Amino acid sequence: MQSRNKYKGYYNKKNYNSQTLKTYLGVLPPGNKIIKRNDYSYLTNCVAHEDNNPSLSISQGNTKVVFKCHAGCSQDQVAAYFSQKLGGL
Ligand SMILES: [Zn+2]
Repeated sequence: MQSRNKYKGYYNKKNYNSQTLKTYLGVLPPGNKIIKRNDYSYLTNCVAHEDNNPSLSISQGNTKVVFKCHAGCSQDQVAAYFSQKLGGL
């Protein structure tokens, strides 16, 4: 009888990832709207430009959290904000 717990690693990874995404959400400016699109993707006000309507998506990718500003800010511009808040990524 094999007792390989092949699901354990999967769940650990999943928990780790969602925590990571929450870490990013947790350091957004206090006035930011946060709209949940699904468990792995949120929409919020962009931290790299003056944004009255949430246009920044923060999503859990396969290996890291990815940002996408629909107004055109680069990943680096957005990452710079979080890097400052989190003390380096
Ligand atoms: Zn932007």
